[in-house]
Amino acid sequence: MKKVVKFGGSSLASAEQFKKVGAIIRADGTRRYVVPSAPGKRFSEDTKVTDLLYACYRAANEEIFQKVLAEIKSRYQEIIDGLELSLSLEEDFKILEENFKRQIGEEYAASRGEYLNGKIMAAYLGFTFIDPAEMIRFDGNGQFDAEITEALVAKRLKDVTEAVVPGFYGAKENGEIKTFSRGGSDITGSIIAGALDVELYENWTDVSGVMVTDPRIINNPKSIDTITYRELRELSYMGATVLHEDAIFPVRKAGIPINIKNTNAPEEDGTMIVEDTCKKPPYTITGIAGKKGFCSLFIEKSMMNSEIGFGRKVLQVLEEQGISFEHVPSGIDTMTIFIHQDEFAEKEQQVIAGIHRAVNPDYMELETDLSLIAVVGRGMRSNRGTAARIFAALAHANVNVRMIDQGSSELNVIVGVKDEDFEPAIKAIYDIFVETQV
Ligand code: ASP
Repeated sequence: MKKVVKFGGSSLASAEQFKKVGAIIRADGTRRYVVPSAPGKRFSEDTKVTDLLYACYRAANEEIFQKVLAEIKSRYQEIIDGLELSLSLEEDFKILEENFKRQIGEEYAASRGEYLNGKIMAAYLGFTFIDPAEMIRFDGNGQFDAEITEALVAKRLKDVTEAVVPGFYGAKENGEIKTFSRGGSDITGSIIAGALDVELYENWTDVSGVMVTDPRIINNPKSIDTITYRELRELSYMGATVLHEDAIFPVRKAGIPINIKNTNAPEEDGTMIVEDTCKKPPYTITGIAGKKGFCSLFIEKSMMNSEIGFGRKVLQVLEEQGISFEHVPSGIDTMTIFIHQDEFAEKEQQVIAGIHRAVNPDYMELETDLSLIAVVGRGMRSNRGTAARIFAALAHANVNVRMIDQGSSELNVIVGVKDEDFEPAIKAIYDIFVETQV
């Protein structure tokens, strides 16, 4: 049995955190492939090393360069000293400085956070250090190449029983370093797990799993013990941030579950993310997530129902303006489109003019400052009255519902409310399903 274990930045921000991680890895001999992030924040006002690296790179030819570089060096040195390692990163920093001065690329700069942390981790654990530039491959256009990567990872790690592979980056065939988007070490862990076909991908962070909802809205929300990939996808899309969205695909494809665990409370079970499960969720709903900042475009035209191609023509206008839509609830003679406000704001007049030309509506109206809230749960399909309870809770909280959309998978109900009702709406839904325990 073997596992891939990924540790996030806050799990590796100091020597003290490194020691917890070391204990976790040593406690289970199957934790054989370790994917570290760069050192994150040690306290809430601290700066992540990745952010320091971006800043340092941009200042490469300015006076403050040496100051920022010294700060980065000291972050690593503090860890090395705290772990009493004899490792020196001097040579690595010399190369880094030269490359920054030559302005080799911002992505190279950012990737050094994981690279250097990986070197420390490998020395601390006595594992083999493997640079992901050798095996995580991006194509000439900078797109991640899953197929080649899978083959390279399987080949490179075939005979390596214990390895540290830094997260977040890889390289093009010509050696140019490329990173994933922020938080991308999650993706590296998933890719390694998928390519090696391990039993479990453990993703260690600073919370005990995926929460039912956002802790900034509900104080100390319950955590979810088992969630399916599809449920998590819905929640992540609507703003739940525990795992990078793109980290699901490589393991899902290989049928490998993910276990989200807490480095600061390793005895807790955390959340299992699985393809499917017979386990009944403790509540009818699995999670609630939402986003602010949408607007709606209401279009009315009599006899719209019989005008073939109406919807396509309207949506084509959005396509031509490069705008994506979120939801399109419709009536007999009406259609409403929900769009991200910031995407829409710049082009609103072009869109309105375009729709006039395309379908000649009787009336159009824009409404701004709307939020979308997703109530997600595999248990909703088999429970009667879920929608009624959601809307009763919202009515009691005096929240006006502007839009309802039940996904055809019956996995989620999306509710649109005014931005100012966002928090009260989430509280009301959480209360009725979780606090009252039904
Ligand atoms: N260090 C990178 C970031 O801060 C990647 C990661 O931590 O996953 O986004």
